[in-house]
Amino acid sequence: MLRLPKFRYLQPKSLSEALLMMADAGPEAMYVAGGTDLYPNMKRRQQTPKVVIGLAHLEPLRMLRGEPEQGMVLGAGLTLTDVCTDKRVQASYPAVAIAAELISTPLLRNMGSIGGNLLLDTRCNYYDQNYEWRKSIHFCMKKDGEICWVAPSSPRCWAVQSSDCVPVMVAIGAKVRLVSSSGDRMLDAAELYHDDGIRHLNKRPEELLTEIHLPPVNGWRATYWKLRRRGSFDFPVLGVATCLKLANDGTVEAAKIVLGGVGSHPIEVVAAQKALLGKKLTREIIQGAASTAYPAAKPLDNTDYAMAWRKDMARYYVAGTLAELAGLPPNGSPPEGPLIAISSPIGKA
Ligand SMILES: Cc1cc2nc3c(=O)[nH]c(=O)nc-3n(C[C@H](O)[C@H](O)[C@H](O)COP(=O)(O)OP(=O)(O)OC[C@H]3O[C@@H](n4cnc5c(N)ncnc54)[C@H](O)[C@@H]3O)c2cc1C
Ligand code: SF4
Repeated sequence: MLRLPKFRYLQPKSLSEALLMMADAGPEAMYVAGGTDLYPNMKRRQQTPKVVIGLAHLEPLRMLRGEPEQGMVLGAGLTLTDVCTDKRVQASYPAVAIAAELISTPLLRNMGSIGGNLLLDTRCNYYDQNYEWRKSIHFCMKKDGEICWVAPSSPRCWAVQSSDCVPVMVAIGAKVRLVSSSGDRMLDAAELYHDDGIRHLNKRPEELLTEIHLPPVNGWRATYWKLRRRGSFDFPVLGVATCLKLANDGTVEAAKIVLGGVGSHPIEVVAAQKALLGKKLTREIIQGAASTAYPAAKPLDNTDYAMAWRKDMARYYVAGTLAELAGLPPNGSPPEGPLIAISSPIGKA
């Protein structure tokens, strides 16, 4: 059984107390919300904070306010269950509800927060192992070692952005509020992420994520498809979030397509977006736009499934999300490869 290392746990009674505790403790400290990512990482000695500041009981982080017409604000401490069962989120931001509902298991969704999900550590088969396993290969660049086992001549780490909600938040144009004792700033969700497996967040360690601002719905329609091995629970090895604005006659006025799970950051498929603008969503237009997801997806062999097949699946999934938003039937069979336990939410409108 893996055990947690020794650490001091602090439980602030207010946001301002949490910020003070963080300022006092300095770089040795980390925040924890549900702990469903941080505590397993601590058990594997991937992250070893000496002080952990608990956020789970802070009411201001659990609010959900606003209306879809003006935009809604999700407190970063809302659990994934709070988010995916909220009727307004389900009705007006279905892609957010779908992504949250597809994360891990009901028990973990009752603990895990939406904020923790947006700040999830990047993942890699050579890193998500216990200390002894990692020691036996002399560790790797992401923690305690020097080289990257996935790309040994690479100067950078290629660990994978593996959160389900991240591509959705980027695609719908959400914003996040970061607060620390030295100030407060709002960022577009897209600006929060770097293409680097180690420095994957544009966030200082002392900054507290307090709010996620969902934009006014304003005619945008979005969906999320996730590829994983097991239907019961698994991290995404590909996630596609697609958000479209269609004119009354079905012409695409604006499009955002974002891939997760196939790079160290969420990848915007700019070429597909351009290929859709001003067009009606026929099969031919959809296939043309989706084909540009193939070069955009950059999977490596550091998660589940062969990387070539995941790259192929990116094309198929982008086409699937576009067909779903256009109200067309699903697009044929997936590329040949291993059996997929679930490629949800195919067939779910
Ligand atoms: C078996 C298993 C399966 C999983 N499957 C999936 C999956 O399919 N998809 C998926 O996306 N995730 C998955 N997860 C990961 C995790 O459960 C979720 O991402 C969850 O939403 C993380 O939230 P949390 O509150 O538990 O984060 P925590 O573990 O509390 O924190 C995660 C990180 O965020 C930081 N943090 C948390 N909240 C804040 C805040 N408000 N401000 C600043 N920093 C903060 C912490 O310091 C830490 O670095 C899985 C986990 C397990 C154990
Ligand atoms: S991509 Fe390379 S450096 Fe990064 S976690 Fe994996 S093996 Fe380590």
